[in-house]
Amino acid sequence: MATQEETFKKIVAHCKEYGFVFPSSEIYDGLGAVYDYGQNGVEMKNNIKRYWWEAMTLLHENVVGIDAAIFMHPTTWKASGHVDAFNDPLIDNRDSKKRYRADVLIEDQLGKIEEKINKEVEKARKRFGESFDEAMFRQTNARVLEHQEKWNALHERYSKAMNAMDLDELKQIILDEEIVCPISGTRNWTDVRQFNLMFSTEMGSTADGAMKIYLRPETAQGIFVNYLNVQKTGRMKIPFGIAQIGKAFRNEIVARQFVFRMREFEQMEMQFFIKPGTELEWFEHWKQFRLRWHKALGLGDEKYRFHDHEKLAHYANAATDIEFLMPFGFKEVEGIHSRTNFDLSQHAKYSGKKIEYFDPELNQSYTPYVIETSIGVDRMFLSVMCSAYKEEQLEGGDSRVVLSLPPVLAPVKACVMPLVRKDGLPEKAREIMDDLKFDFHTTYDEKDSIGKRYRRQDAIGTPFCITVDHDTLSDNCVTVRYRDTMEQDRVPLTELKKMIAEAVDMKPLLRSLVK
Ligand code: ATP
Repeated sequence: MATQEETFKKIVAHCKEYGFVFPSSEIYDGLGAVYDYGQNGVEMKNNIKRYWWEAMTLLHENVVGIDAAIFMHPTTWKASGHVDAFNDPLIDNRDSKKRYRADVLIEDQLGKIEEKINKEVEKARKRFGESFDEAMFRQTNARVLEHQEKWNALHERYSKAMNAMDLDELKQIILDEEIVCPISGTRNWTDVRQFNLMFSTEMGSTADGAMKIYLRPETAQGIFVNYLNVQKTGRMKIPFGIAQIGKAFRNEIVARQFVFRMREFEQMEMQFFIKPGTELEWFEHWKQFRLRWHKALGLGDEKYRFHDHEKLAHYANAATDIEFLMPFGFKEVEGIHSRTNFDLSQHAKYSGKKIEYFDPELNQSYTPYVIETSIGVDRMFLSVMCSAYKEEQLEGGDSRVVLSLPPVLAPVKACVMPLVRKDGLPEKAREIMDDLKFDFHTTYDEKDSIGKRYRRQDAIGTPFCITVDHDTLSDNCVTVRYRDTMEQDRVPLTELKKMIAEAVDMKPLLRSLVK
């Protein structure tokens, strides 16, 4: 059995080999934590974005979209707090010259203790077999309790240090825990420093006095600064939401784990404006809706969990992450935050504009509160990819790699193949493809044996392979081979479109979200 790490490496290699994700500017050896999506990756990413956009805007008549610019007036970032507080604590190892996030080093240490506990549990599970009571074991086993105590103490110390952003204490924890650099193996650490994650550039010529501007580190602020525009021009009534999909940029210190942590990435965010006092109700509402959205894809309900934040930003009064079980553990894919009226109030203060809502029912004005849902397209892409990637042993000693993608997200829906490259079969296959291509992303393949062609489509997750043989010319039927079961059916051409549509249509998925 391959380890999780090996599996992840294979997924990364597969993404490149099959045109999903390439390292950026690869001919120049790439650029750290920047990636390009290839011919299949872009299709899948577009499908993810469409699923999100339609679930948010089509299903909610009070949610509308915008597309704000990446460049924004620099005061935006002063008001939002990003200039002063969008920092990570960094630490360097003097021997390897590698840079790390101090908080990540400590979290990894916590993860190691958790791993030890889990190992004890797994050992006991094997020993006790069916009669094993995991909860009881965790509460009573001496070794588990010892580890758990250690975890609690470290966690408390770490949370305190992070809340206070006590950089000396963070370093002291790293020293006390004897955390070593994974590259050099030494404990020769520098002090911990703050590092602002925003990229900046200059706008305008220097003669005019160039202005320092930032590449947005989140799309949310583009929504807040347009709150008044949308509310007025759309005559929106509270509660209402504004959705946006777009690029965001963060100069991440430790960029690893492929598209999980990139320096240029894409977000799908929605800010939902509400009456103060109703925020916890709406927070719960969006938490549930967003989880439903994830689970409806059928990647496995057990792969999701909420992780409520213990450490809240000073302006937030509730926050949770939706985590997904990646090969490297449960990781945040989406954040849901109750942000009070912090952002709108800050923009009102810094711009000198009145940013409020007149509530006709209350006959009074107030600054709306906000619930935010924020999901990374790339992390979503990765979670789908990781759960879809399968290596299967087949009868007769053969094996295959198949992407069991939800059909609605698959980059290619159907591949049409003539059995042989003669006798009018290619022409018939082209005819079928020309008919299907207006409804679905369809490809055509006539090279190599049918078996090899099936494998190529399995590797990119195509749900249907449609083979045209000599009988097709007389009976107007094709052989449809299904990706997951590898079973084959003879299907009349008149039924083909309907059959594919039923499997890849987004409508049933969207319907399942509406209770
Ligand atoms: P993390 O703690 O992992 O750095 P975050 O809490 O800073 O993430 P948010 O600011 O809440 O993330 O951003 C919302 C979403 O944007 C995240 O849930 C994630 O899906 C995505 N995201 C954030 N940073 C990155 C990144 N560097 N690369 C890819 N996606 C990202």
